[in-house]
Amino acid sequence: MDVEKVFHMKGGLGETSYARNSSHQKKGLEMVKHITIETIIDLYLTSTPHTLAIADLGCSSGPNTLSVVEQIVDAVDERCCRYLLQSSPEFQVFLNDLPANDFNSIFMALPDFRAKLNKGGSREACPCVFFAGVPGSFYGRLFPNRSLHFIHSSFGLHWLSQVPPALMDESGTWLNKGKMCVSESSPPLVSKAYFMQFQQDFSLFLKSRSEELISGGRMVLILLGRSGHQREMGHTFYWEMLARAFACMVSSGEVEEESVDSYNVPFYAPSMEEIEGLVHADGSFRIDRLEMFEIGRDDSNSMQDGGSMAMAVRAIQEPMIRHHFSEGIVDGLFQQYAEMLDAEMAKREIKVPSLVVVLRKSK
Ligand code: SAH
Repeated sequence: MDVEKVFHMKGGLGETSYARNSSHQKKGLEMVKHITIETIIDLYLTSTPHTLAIADLGCSSGPNTLSVVEQIVDAVDERCCRYLLQSSPEFQVFLNDLPANDFNSIFMALPDFRAKLNKGGSREACPCVFFAGVPGSFYGRLFPNRSLHFIHSSFGLHWLSQVPPALMDESGTWLNKGKMCVSESSPPLVSKAYFMQFQQDFSLFLKSRSEELISGGRMVLILLGRSGHQREMGHTFYWEMLARAFACMVSSGEVEEESVDSYNVPFYAPSMEEIEGLVHADGSFRIDRLEMFEIGRDDSNSMQDGGSMAMAVRAIQEPMIRHHFSEGIVDGLFQQYAEMLDAEMAKREIKVPSLVVVLRKSK
């Protein structure tokens, strides 16, 4: 699978789109909002640029994309107007994702977003925000040298640039049979292959960003992570259940076993120690913060039941599943998946471990 071409969240505004099924990520963003705001304010106060250049990497499309921009612009604007009694800087906002992302939906939402920033026309001087879309992989250079002050990336960095090679032994047998990524029953070679891919990708991410940020520039990175062993529960639970739903499809003859064995996703949830090690090895950033938090049930919206959680996973997985299997299996698979999640989630609350990392470019 060519991740750069195939991978994207389900676009548009339809029932199964990422835009309508990303409230779990939204909840995560809210949980660390204070950290994002604290970081951007501190950066602004120490550098006071006339134009603040910001990038959101892996922005996807839907309400989360612009709500991140709104958080940042509002925080700086409020600080300027209320406390510093000066006008806001201009904002240059770069929205990045892979080329197949639904950039059109974001751009179409911009007029309403501007009106919202202007508080319905009630403000004399609304902050100037200039947008640009930047298609391409964040595992490589996206921006000119030292051109950015602040980088935000949420729920993108647990996606690898590719499914790790070496998931097959010499006899051509898939090592991670029936599973999609590192799972409780994966052999050590599979965990190792995934970790090596993460190491390679995250190092390249850091190297690229260190060239693009100004000295003292900051990054707030939010991604799924794990607190201990590679095979612990949490996000693994959702993959395990998906593997079980696939197994049911195999038993009923709707899907070939071989296609499930060869279906692997480019997903890896690192530990804090792994992140720390890679940041130190890169050497261009200081870790200002590295924390774990858990995204649990959201009582304020529909993330209560298996059905809506299945929709959330579908919005992320559907394009890849269609590419590997066929379109025909998607509805049946996710119906099965929703029923299984319902049964399990009635017994216990599943919390998804996540990491927030704040990095400061040190040289
Ligand atoms: N930031 C949004 C979207 C998260 S979904 C939110 O918090 O809700 C993760 C996004 O990362 C997807 O849109 C996916 O296409 C993007 N992504 C994954 N790998 C990427 C890469 N290598 N380069 C750029 N974007 C990537």
